[in-house]
Amino acid sequence: MDFGFTEEQKKRRQEFYKVCAELEKYKPRGFYGLESIYDTDEGWQYHLYCAKEFAKRGWLSLAWPAEYDGTGNMMDRVLFAEARGYHGVPGVDIFGVQMLAPTILACGSEEIKREFLPMIASGEVQFCELWSEPNAGSDLAALTSTSIRQGNEFVINGQKIWTTGAHRAHWSFGVYKDDINGTPHHNMSFLLFDMKVPGITIRPIKYMNNMHLYNEVFLDNVRVPAKIVGQEHEGWMVVNTLAAFERSNIDAVVSMQRLLEDAVNYCNTTKQDGVPLARNPLIRSRLAKIAGEIEASRTLAYRVADLQNRGELTLMDAGAVKIFSSELLERFASLMTDILGPYGQVKLSRWAVMDGLCERSYQEHFVGSISMGTNEIQRNLIAWRGLGLPRMK
Ligand SMILES: Cc1cc2nc3c(=O)[nH]c(=O)nc-3n(C[C@H](O)[C@H](O)[C@H](O)COP(=O)(O)OP(=O)(O)OC[C@H]3O[C@@H](n4cnc5c(N)ncnc54)[C@H](O)[C@@H]3O)c2cc1C
Repeated sequence: MDFGFTEEQKKRRQEFYKVCAELEKYKPRGFYGLESIYDTDEGWQYHLYCAKEFAKRGWLSLAWPAEYDGTGNMMDRVLFAEARGYHGVPGVDIFGVQMLAPTILACGSEEIKREFLPMIASGEVQFCELWSEPNAGSDLAALTSTSIRQGNEFVINGQKIWTTGAHRAHWSFGVYKDDINGTPHHNMSFLLFDMKVPGITIRPIKYMNNMHLYNEVFLDNVRVPAKIVGQEHEGWMVVNTLAAFERSNIDAVVSMQRLLEDAVNYCNTTKQDGVPLARNPLIRSRLAKIAGEIEASRTLAYRVADLQNRGELTLMDAGAVKIFSSELLERFASLMTDILGPYGQVKLSRWAVMDGLCERSYQEHFVGSISMGTNEIQRNLIAWRGLGLPRMK
């Protein structure tokens, strides 16, 4: 594992920071993370604008193999993510760019690659993930939505739930039973379809504070052309491939550096009883611990990139990153809530500090331990498959 960067990478990294710093100037007030992308029209337009700027520079296809105009090096993607995370700019479709593209590169036919990779690289087509169902979350193989082949088309029926951004997405990737009597894990297809085809109803599931990110998606005789990733009936294999890319979400990890700097700055400049918060030994100690953990998470992100470069990333490695980064984000949000007290519980208010960042991260970051497969399930996978421990009855 070599963490040294080439001269070319160092130059590229400077360019990433320069462009992201410029894009940050256009950020709508209070824009923060995923929720701002999907909740408001303004946030969505800003996301698409940034996507276009990145696409122009070929940065949405950065780490793809040279034949698809990429550098072939995942480390470039991490450096780009660090710059975006630092400046808090969107523009990278977590579903299309980060999950689907590498999955298509790993499992897709030449036809699927030629059709979908340029779409994703253009930044103009955004995806959502139609996996979870009301009775199939952790146990995804229990899904009941069906895709029945009729010639060159599939007819899809069923219900999906928790679909992030379905109300904004242009296309979806999803998994459906294609053979009701087939052998488990060999009875589903991984399909791509346009979200504007007839028969799709999207119903919002809103946060308590009325924000809209998640949805239920009802599929009623939805007729779509057969666009399959991998083989028919073998969608489960594709699900596992995509899950590893999803859970090794290095962007979540690398975005924390700026949060830490903002927190330290706040503690240096805010006084309690005439003394800067930064002089409080308890606050110093907790911030220092988080700082160490953020460094560890950065190293984990580099390790994942290295494993991906060598084609050796396993579900266990990805699960470990997922657990560490989601729990670190939670700890960080919790620490900031402790430090800010009541000021940490408001945003878009004159009493809000750090642009309401604390309230937002407290609301948003707990979901990381549930989404992409819960942390309990990840720990089970690491225990069983990674460490070879026995399964509990
Ligand atoms: C913010 C967010 C965004 C999401 N976005 C999407 C999306 O865009 N697309 C999509 O398809 N899905 C999405 N999901 C759904 C997500 O993948 C599921 O919530 C997750 O897989 C858990 O499934 P579940 O909610 O059905 O919980 P369940 O599977 O019912 O689990 C409930 C609890 O039981 C525990 N549990 C279950 N089985 C076991 C076991 N065998 N051993 C130990 N503990 C167990 C779980 O850890 C959990 O604590 C999202 C979820 C969230 C929270």
